[in-house]
Amino acid sequence: MQSPWSAEHGSATPVEMPLVVDDPACVRWDDVCDVLVAGFGAAGACAALEAAAAGAKVRIVERFEGGGASAKSGGVVYAGGGTRYQTEAGYNDTPEAMFAYLRQEVGDAVSAATLKRFCAGSVDMLRWLERLGVRFAASVPPRKTSYPQNSYYLYYSGNEAVGDGAREYAPAPRGHRVVGDGMSGRVLYDTLRRAVDAHLFIDTMCHASVRRLVTDRSGRVIGAQVW
Ligand SMILES: Cc1cc2nc3c(=O)[nH]c(=O)nc-3n(C[C@H](O)[C@H](O)[C@H](O)COP(=O)(O)OP(=O)(O)OC[C@H]3O[C@@H](n4cnc5c(N)ncnc54)[C@H](O)[C@@H]3O)c2cc1C
Repeated sequence: MQSPWSAEHGSATPVEMPLVVDDPACVRWDDVCDVLVAGFGAAGACAALEAAAAGAKVRIVERFEGGGASAKSGGVVYAGGGTRYQTEAGYNDTPEAMFAYLRQEVGDAVSAATLKRFCAGSVDMLRWLERLGVRFAASVPPRKTSYPQNSYYLYYSGNEAVGDGAREYAPAPRGHRVVGDGMSGRVLYDTLRRAVDAHLFIDTMCHASVRRLVTDRSGRVIGAQVW
C-alpha cells in the first residue's frame, strides 16, 4: 500500500509551518527539557554534548535510528590553522591562511565573522573531537586524490594547492580523515554516539520525528511537536 505521504512529500518527513502561540505560559507540554536537538547525526551529537557540558538537560529526537549522512560520509573533518597533524607533516598553516582560502570557496554563503570564528577555533575543534576518542593521523598521500586510501589521513580535500587557492599563503592540507578503514564516517559517528549515550544529561528518543516547531509571537522557538 502506498504511504499517504509519498505523493506529496516523497520520502521526506513532512514538517508543517510553525505553530505560533500567544501565551507560552498557557501551553500544556507533554515533556520539557532545556535543549531539544532534532536529528541525531554528527551535528546533533555535537550540539547535545556541548549543551550538556554547559549544564543543560538535553533531549535528542531522531526520526530513524540516528547516524544520518554523517555515518555514511567519508569522515573527513576540514580543519586547519596549525593542527598538530599539519605541524607533524611539515606544514605551517595559520587561521589567516585558512580564512583566505575558504573565503574564495564560500563566497557570500557564510558571513566573514562566522568564517573567521570557524578558522580561529579549528585547532580546538579537532582537539575536542580527540578528547572524545576520535583519532586522526599526519600521513599525507604522495599525490592529489579525491579520497585517500587506507594509511593516509591528511590530504588536500579542496583546491588549496592550486591556482588562486595557493596565491596568498603557502598551501596546507586540511582534510583530516578519521582513522578507520575505508569511508570512516561511521567511525566518527560511532565515537560521538558513544559519548552521547554515556552522558547522564542527554536523553535520546529514536523513531520520533519533529513535525512542527512551536514559536512565540516574536518567532522564538519554544518547543516542538514530536510524533
Ligand atoms: C557519501 C557522502 C560522503 C560525505 N563525506 C563527507 C566528508 O568526508 N566530510 C564532510 O565534511 N562531509 C561529508 N559529507 C557531507 C556530510 O556527511 C554532511 O554534511 C553531514 O553528515 C551533515 O551532518 P548532520 O548531522 O547535519 O546531518 P545528518 O548526519 O544527515 O543527520 C541528520 C539526522 O536528522 C534526522 N532527521 C531529519 N529530519 C528529522 C526530523 N524532522 N525529526 C527528527 N529527526 C530528523 C535524520 O534521520 C538524521 O539522522 C558526505 C556526504 C555524503 C552523502
